[in-house]
Amino acid sequence: MRIGELEEHFQLELEEIYDIDESKALFSLAAENVLKLSPSKLKMIRDISLSFIDFQKLLSILNDLKIGKPIQHILGEAHFYGSIFKVNEHVLIPRPETEELVDWVIHDLAGRADIQVLDIGTGSGCIPISIKKYLPQVKVTTIDISSRAIATAQENANMINTDVKFIEADILTYKTDLKFDVIVSNPPYIRALEKEAMHQNVLSFEPHIALFVTDDEPLIFYSKIADFALSNLNNNGLLYFEINEYLGDETLNMLKDKGLDTIELRKDMQGKDRMVKVLVNR
Ligand code: GLN
Repeated sequence: MRIGELEEHFQLELEEIYDIDESKALFSLAAENVLKLSPSKLKMIRDISLSFIDFQKLLSILNDLKIGKPIQHILGEAHFYGSIFKVNEHVLIPRPETEELVDWVIHDLAGRADIQVLDIGTGSGCIPISIKKYLPQVKVTTIDISSRAIATAQENANMINTDVKFIEADILTYKTDLKFDVIVSNPPYIRALEKEAMHQNVLSFEPHIALFVTDDEPLIFYSKIADFALSNLNNNGLLYFEINEYLGDETLNMLKDKGLDTIELRKDMQGKDRMVKVLVNR
């Protein structure tokens, strides 16, 4: 079968769960991985026939996609901010919204030397590793409650050749004398009441500990991290959060109640309230 024909076969077989653009993107990721090709190369060779082995590999990926498995779990990797990260069932698949947060931090910190950055709840390590990759002069530490997530993030740090320090701890109880200049976090923020609107493949395959908070305390991580920032950030420190799109006002009010000034609430590329930057003066 030719590559272009198989792409059409993917669209047909996946039409119940994915629209045409999504199917095309999924086919492209699968084919890039199996054939070791760049997306532009792939477009040029649509008429070439697949070898039997590559054809079988791509069909097996298609079967996994049909049961709703995320492509990143099937391939064991995810693209994030110009790097490829290993992912598995112990970590959240890095999202494009988080790339926007990382982009914000990297632009703000460019040119600053000798500063300490802490990422809280690292998962795959996508945030701290990307920061360190593009700002090698910055010292980067990260914490996560899950030893398996840390093992995955450590592998990613090695693979991407970045020097990041890892701490295994629960941010809800963690205390330290270490001081930082910048804290970044994309903590769990989805309320149980939002579950119904979510894709089955997220619910079935991604770690719930990384996604969910209770309906009565949806800002628990933000509040704890803000307290931590008040005690562990140097003066004029910065705190960056990815936030729940429905809880922008609540998040800002909670921060204000603690005496923290939000410098900016930013929307993501879909126009949803998605990240905040806070100045921490003590
Ligand atoms: N920091 C990681 C990410 O942004 C993990 C986030 C999480 O598990 N809540 O992907």
